[in-house]
Amino acid sequence: MISRRAVLAGTLSAPFVANIAARAQGAADIDVAIIGAGAAGIHAARQARAAGLTARIFEARSRVGGRVFTDTSLGSDFEAGAFYIHWAETNPWAEIAKSLQIEAISDSGLWGGFDVFSNGRRLTGEERSRRRGGFWRLANVLDGEPTAMDMSFGEAARRVSPDQPDAASGMTLLSLGEDADRVSIRDYQRLDSGEDLVLPGGYGRLLARYAEGLDIALATPVTAVDYTGPGIRLETPRGTVRARAVIVTVSVNVLKSGAIRFTPELPAGTRRALEGLGMGALTKLALRFEATKFGQTPWTQFFDSSRPGDLVNFEFWPWGNDLVVAHFGGDYARGVAAMGEAAAVDHMLARLVAILGEDARKAFRGGRLAGWSADPLALGCYSIAKPGEADQRDALAQPVANRLWFAGEASAGAGSMTAGGAALAGARAIAMIRKVL
Ligand SMILES: Cc1cc2nc3c(=O)[nH]c(=O)nc-3n(C[C@H](O)[C@H](O)[C@H](O)COP(=O)(O)OP(=O)(O)OC[C@H]3O[C@@H](n4cnc5c(N)ncnc54)[C@H](O)[C@@H]3O)c2cc1C
Repeated sequence: MISRRAVLAGTLSAPFVANIAARAQGAADIDVAIIGAGAAGIHAARQARAAGLTARIFEARSRVGGRVFTDTSLGSDFEAGAFYIHWAETNPWAEIAKSLQIEAISDSGLWGGFDVFSNGRRLTGEERSRRRGGFWRLANVLDGEPTAMDMSFGEAARRVSPDQPDAASGMTLLSLGEDADRVSIRDYQRLDSGEDLVLPGGYGRLLARYAEGLDIALATPVTAVDYTGPGIRLETPRGTVRARAVIVTVSVNVLKSGAIRFTPELPAGTRRALEGLGMGALTKLALRFEATKFGQTPWTQFFDSSRPGDLVNFEFWPWGNDLVVAHFGGDYARGVAAMGEAAAVDHMLARLVAILGEDARKAFRGGRLAGWSADPLALGCYSIAKPGEADQRDALAQPVANRLWFAGEASAGAGSMTAGGAALAGARAIAMIRKVL
């Protein structure tokens, strides 16, 4: 006679157990579905593999990397998105580069000096030192004790530098891509800082190398996520996929755009978090020139503005190549990106010609716009917390129904806005998924 326990044990042999488990999971095809093959998605997929979970990334673009992209269409490397490995001491990309034997060097040598212009006119020494004074006062306050009250960066700046109303936006437009009055000072003060590294071979190539061998469905946008049942159903133009958990890494503005329909509707806490977050519009535009360097050494920067908000930083000849890369942000950048590439390139070339003279036009050979704010798969450069909303990043990082995780850069706390933070957020999601699957 065999015991009840033995009968049970015999009946629940491995295939049978697997079958019950599969039914409970809604017969999942994979353990973890990851939406987006950017820094967060790629690192999450690597962590999933290391943990013995099956993971597949669904990526709408026909390339990996997301907002980390080394664009070669002009014939020279144009780092269209992320450039620095920030706070390299703890940034996973520093370690990953090392493990892949990809060179990452200190950014301290990338300095060619700078000059400041207003509408193409070089500022006098007196004008420059007045501006510098405003920036230093501000920088000291921002690096000091966190402000007790969460207010806008602009308001905090006006309290210390009332005579320099534009200094704050001068800082935030090129670092956050957004006007200072739309950014939480507390969120900014909370961000990680440390040593910066750069990748002579291109940040985009590092991510592409790291993604090699992963299960990635390119050109496969996810249009709907249904987490009604015990598992998850993802809709894509190539069919339905069932997973036990999903990690969503698309940007805050893509989430807000409704490009992915969630059923049931996302919980109030997640929707509230998305309301409190926004995205800056840091934009880069590369101009290629032939046969002249205009007397400028690599990494020289020209700052030019004609009115508040339209500040542009022209960076000359990165890595000694033949590009001048314009950086600009805020509503001005949104307007330029919305012009479309040809008009945007003409516009930016005209601004550079106003500084360098008509010879620049003769040497011009082509341009490329990285207009992230007009790109439907990004809709901005990186997340910002609105004034008074510094806590919403942590709210976004909360799991939904223990099956749905948000893990893009916006949910990365002190690492937010960066490719390093995105990777850490992806790893954190996998660590939590391991506990519940
Ligand atoms: C101009 C610029 C400069 C920057 N500079 C730096 C820097 O120097 N250092 C730094 O660390 N960071 C920098 N960043 C920020 C950094 O690039 C981002 O924080 C980081 O790359 C975000 O990674 P992510 O995985 O969270 O999101 P993403 O890279 O946006 O990845 C999400 C992916 O989801 C895809 N997707 C969107 N919708 C769908 C859908 N429906 N279905 C499937 N896939 C979808 C997108 O195509 C994208 O590939 C910069 C960004 C920009 C734009």
